[in-house]
Amino acid sequence: METKKLFDLDSYCRNFSATVLSCEQNPKNPDEYLVVLNQTAFFPEGGGQPADQGRLGDAKVGHVSEKGGIIAHHCDRALEVGSVVDGSIDWDIRFPHMQTHCGEHILSGIILREYGFHNVGFHMGKDATTIDLDGELTGEMVAHAETLVNRAIEENVEVHVSYPSKEELAALPLRKKPEVEKLRLVEVSGYDFCGCCGTHVARSGEIELVKIIDFQRYKGGTRLFFLCGRRALLDYQQKHAAVKALAEEFSCKPDGLTDAVHKLQQDLAEAKVQLAEKNKMLFQFLGQKLLEQAPETQGCRWVFLYGGFSAEEAKTFALSTVKQDNVLCTCFMPAGQQLRYAISKSKNVSALSGKSLCQTMNQALGGKGGGNEELCCGSLPLIAEEELKAFFTRQLGL
Ligand SMILES: [Zn+2]
Repeated sequence: METKKLFDLDSYCRNFSATVLSCEQNPKNPDEYLVVLNQTAFFPEGGGQPADQGRLGDAKVGHVSEKGGIIAHHCDRALEVGSVVDGSIDWDIRFPHMQTHCGEHILSGIILREYGFHNVGFHMGKDATTIDLDGELTGEMVAHAETLVNRAIEENVEVHVSYPSKEELAALPLRKKPEVEKLRLVEVSGYDFCGCCGTHVARSGEIELVKIIDFQRYKGGTRLFFLCGRRALLDYQQKHAAVKALAEEFSCKPDGLTDAVHKLQQDLAEAKVQLAEKNKMLFQFLGQKLLEQAPETQGCRWVFLYGGFSAEEAKTFALSTVKQDNVLCTCFMPAGQQLRYAISKSKNVSALSGKSLCQTMNQALGGKGGGNEELCCGSLPLIAEEELKAFFTRQLGL
């Protein structure tokens, strides 16, 4: 026997009583019991709308599914067959579904009327609801559709559910062709006619707000991401808080944020260019100064640098310093619990190998990395400057 669907003609039915017809352990999930009632207000997942949640007696209903007209309530405990139970659905979950589903119908109806594109896919997701359209919308079209949907909400038009006869159906301007024998028709007065099994609000004003938050090209058409009612308000509150905080940070008005960020990006790019130029000069001076004091070994001047720069800057410094002949340059930059290194030597130095020096260091001090004779890079565990200097002094036979 098919389950009587109390939500079909009354979406606002939240509490009800029903008789337990069967209760079986879910073969796919032994922690769950599948309870079938003679009637229910619980909407099962379907038609793009997620299932309701709530309670049946002492049992928690986490999911609701339908197969062949029989609705199964996925409960966390067993219920006695033949007993009468009180059911209550979680309205904080259901009502946003009603707002969203009805908002989706109006939006689809308006897009069809304005642009001739059909809704070919609908999904009510956790973060946003999507509809897929069989035509490409521009940003302007999306904004226009959003304005019109919110006008329809302002007008607070009626939403009717009916079961028209075949003859009545033939005369109606349906948005989608009916796929079932007995069609449940949802009409948003003046905006949309569509066959639908879902739950809707009674008047469009209850949707409160429809906000399209994004759109993208999808399978030759468009995918729209939108929010309705409570979810749209929550999104607005979160975004408003973020924008307000950013505007305070930039000391500007919210509509000046884009310009402020662009300016910041420009300033940053300029500062990077200036820094690179200053570093170039600094590396020349520093390299010269360190070379003057550098101890000599095997006909090579050893430059040792510890801290003061980023790993990337150390690499640049090492490579610029070994442009002079007879130089071995070893740089170590603390970064968190690590010491990033760059080891480089002049091309004319053949008495010692930078690569094998690097390998010996990695082995002795627990480092990682490598490279070639021109440049070796990697990291060591954090080691004090003096300890590291002493290690190289020994290695280089100084
Ligand atoms: Zn629908």
